[in-house]
Order: sequence, then structure tokens, then C-alpha cells
Amino acid sequence: MRIPLVAGNWKMNTTIEEAVALARSTRERIDGIPGVRKAVCPPFVSLGAVRDVLAGSEVLLGAQNVHPGPNGAFTGEVSVEMLRGVVDHVIVGHSERRAMFGETDAHVASRAVAAAEAGLRPIVCVGEPLDVRERGEALETVSAQLASSLEGYEGWDLLTVAYEPVWAIGTGRAASPEIAQEMMSHLRTALAKLGGCPAFQAAILYGGSVDADNAAQFLQLPDVDGALVGGASLKPEGFADIVKQAAKVAAQ
Ligand code: PEP
Repeated sequence: MRIPLVAGNWKMNTTIEEAVALARSTRERIDGIPGVRKAVCPPFVSLGAVRDVLAGSEVLLGAQNVHPGPNGAFTGEVSVEMLRGVVDHVIVGHSERRAMFGETDAHVASRAVAAAEAGLRPIVCVGEPLDVRERGEALETVSAQLASSLEGYEGWDLLTVAYEPVWAIGTGRAASPEIAQEMMSHLRTALAKLGGCPAFQAAILYGGSVDADNAAQFLQLPDVDGALVGGASLKPEGFADIVKQAAKVAAQ
């Protein structure tokens, strides 16, 4: 049985003090909610402080990116060695990284491979821009993106995929449940074909303007195993509400 994951991506928000306060408030509200995995992904600079706040709780910690190489002359980067033992999850290939920082599928694949080899759980993000959807090419584009973003990847038991349509991220315009379900089912089949991940085991999240008001419609979908939540994860009450909705669906 797939246990849902609700992960909050705090993006480039919060000072260390604000991150600590947000983590405390989030922990108070979601720790102990049964049947659902929950994680928060603060900025790098706050990982240590948030890890201390989350110690002894069920709330997992994630990073927002990772450099694939060994420690060395890579100014500004953070290696898997630095993250190992600190975080459980690491987001790779977020569309903001792809669009604003030039990350390609090959970069994403190398990050996912390095993360999994270090025992970290990559959350590999894929999704189509609006023009691709409007041309009716979303399914094949996203499954091709997934395949090349997982080139050389083998840590299937550690993998989570997040389907995040680019046009839905931070826009308040979430995908319809029909679009989400069609894509998730397609990606589940694609994952099974890619290799060691039986379709029924693959963990796939929906992301893109998920909030407490619309989460249930995604979480109830047969091929959706949780949510990657951006803006709404900065509000502990709303994030907790999403986690509770995931727990309710899991208990059905
Ligand atoms: C995200 O950052 O992954 C995301 C889905 O953002 P938002 O929920 O704000 O659309």
C-alpha cells in the first residue's frame, strides 16, 4: 500500500527565525496525524535549525536541491555529503530551477542519482508549460521529460515523482482533477516501463496551487499519492488541513 506524502516547499522564504517559528507551528499541528507522511523543505540556511525543531517528531525534512558532485570547488552549491544525515528528502528538477537556473533533464538526473546513492529520497519534479498543454502534447512531453530526468537512476524504492504543471505553480490556477488523474496514471505506467518500479508502487504527488480548499479533490484521485505544496505550506493551519485531508483519504 502506498502511504501518501504531503511535502511543503518553502522556496526562498523565511529567515532562520521565521523558519524555526513556522516549523514549530507546523509540527504542533501535524505531528501524530496517522497514515500520512509529512515533510517540510526549508531553505538550506535553515535546515539545521529546523532539524532541531523537528527532532523526535514524525515530520520529515527535505532540501530544495542538491549538487550531484563530491565536495570541492563548486561555490554556492550544497553536496549530498552535506545533506546526508540531515534531510530525508531532496526536491530535484523543480520547474523554477529548470526555468530560472538553466537546469536540464541531465542535471536533474545526475542530482537524483547522486541523492539516491547517498540514501536520500529524491522528489523528481516534472510538468509541462502551458503552450505544450494547449497543443495537446502534455502526456508525451512529460513522460519523455520523466524518462530523461531519470536517466541512469536506480534507487526506485527511494523515488517520489511530483507532477507539477508549470502553468499551475504559484498561479492559483490548479489543474483540474481530470487533468491530474490522466497525467498521474500515464506517469505511473511510464515509471513501470522505465525499470524497477512496479506501477502500483510508484509514489506520485500532484503539485501546483494546492491549498486547503482544493486539496481533497486531488488527494482522492486513484493515482495521486499526496501533494507537493508551495505557497500554502507557509501557513501552518492550511498545511495541516491538507495533511488531515490526506489522512482522511488514506483511512477510507
Ligand atoms: C511548488 O513550489 O512546488 C508549488 C507547487 O508551488 P505552489 O503550491 O505555490 O503552486
